[in-house]
Amino acid sequence: MTVTTRFAPSPTGYLHVGNVRTALHNWLFAKKHGGRFLLRLDDTDVERSRAEYADAIRDDLAWLGLVPDAEYRQSDRLARYDEQFETLVAAGRIYACFETAEELDVRRKIQLARGLPPVYDRAALKLTPQEIAAKQATGERPHWRFRLDTSAHVHWEDLIRGDSHIDPASLSDPVVRRADGSYLYMLPSVIDDIDMAVTHVIRGEDHVTNSGVQIQMFEALGAKPPAFAHEALITGTEGALSKRLGSAGMAHFREVGIEPIAIAALLARLGTSDSVEPVTRLDPLVDHFDFAHFGRSAARFDEAELRQLNARILHQLDYDAVAERLPPGMDEEAWTVLRPNIETLADAADWWRVVEGPVVSTADDADYLALAAHTLESLPWESGIWSSLIGALKAATGRKGKDLFLPLRRALTGRDHGPEMAGLLLLIGRDRALERLRRRTN
Ligand code: GLU
Repeated sequence: MTVTTRFAPSPTGYLHVGNVRTALHNWLFAKKHGGRFLLRLDDTDVERSRAEYADAIRDDLAWLGLVPDAEYRQSDRLARYDEQFETLVAAGRIYACFETAEELDVRRKIQLARGLPPVYDRAALKLTPQEIAAKQATGERPHWRFRLDTSAHVHWEDLIRGDSHIDPASLSDPVVRRADGSYLYMLPSVIDDIDMAVTHVIRGEDHVTNSGVQIQMFEALGAKPPAFAHEALITGTEGALSKRLGSAGMAHFREVGIEPIAIAALLARLGTSDSVEPVTRLDPLVDHFDFAHFGRSAARFDEAELRQLNARILHQLDYDAVAERLPPGMDEEAWTVLRPNIETLADAADWWRVVEGPVVSTADDADYLALAAHTLESLPWESGIWSSLIGALKAATGRKGKDLFLPLRRALTGRDHGPEMAGLLLLIGRDRALERLRRRTN
């Protein structure tokens, strides 16, 4: 049996943190077991599904390194759904209903007023074939419900939630097909999972009730249900995942300079007993992935934590991993010197501009800088040049600490803080350093 997972987004919007976490966990689990990871676009809602969202989903997955082994679109498979739909109608598991939304609403209100659960009363099951034919003759189009087997609870051993069960008697028979012939997500999903040999369905715990229903659909279609793992949802720092994080998608993180591996590193471990580590590749996340480490309570997503993790990861990334995204001319030596001082890759480009200049000096100690220039000129330019310069200036002036080095940093970089001057001076180079020290200050 090849482990097969699927990520099944509806292309009706951009992927948000919660979706990406689900995609990642499906990918990690498949990789860990040498299996397959499928992308399935649940696009039966033609009104709301858009090609641009499907493209954005593919791009985001590629950006994150979660490349699917195959891609399917539900809109390509409607004929297959019709076939299985007819099978279930013939088996008496799907039945036609003619109630209007208003009628159903009135019935629900009456049930609630009587203290009864607002479960569909299956009135349509009592329609005779003649009554159905008469309604259809007048142009009424039915919608269709799946008849739940209410004789027993549905049980499954959830990979995260453990022993799980749903009482179908507490549920309405779900509508699986609308009067216009279009399908709701639930049945096509089961047909796909069967045809695509999906072995593990990994998704948010908002689908727990659906799983109870879908397990019955698998059985009604003569298939063994897959294993299920329902993850606790994630929340933002203010309780619910904030609107911005919930809807802005990965573009937001790209814009603020978050590395895709930082997102994966955080989302792989959020809500688990494993600590979040600044990994630079997906492999270690694959190795440690285990549903047994997942907690049951909602995990909190904090963008500030993501930014810190991003910085820690960048501080370890090799030049080769970032080279093509660095400014032209910025070589491995420069990366090694600048890397400890960046939070995003854009900061590296920013420091590289400081190296290349021009910089506006913020120093105001002209005599001291003139002496520094003179001293620098007399010293051999070699790797220890910064400490030689500082040593010579200390001996000549008796200055210490800040008074000794801050005017130099300000003249050479235009800033009070930054990467180690020893490395930075070497990157700036002799000519530019002399020119910056000699310039009349502002
Ligand atoms: N399209 C469904 C959703 O996005 C898929 C759920 C699932 O079966 O994974 O909620």
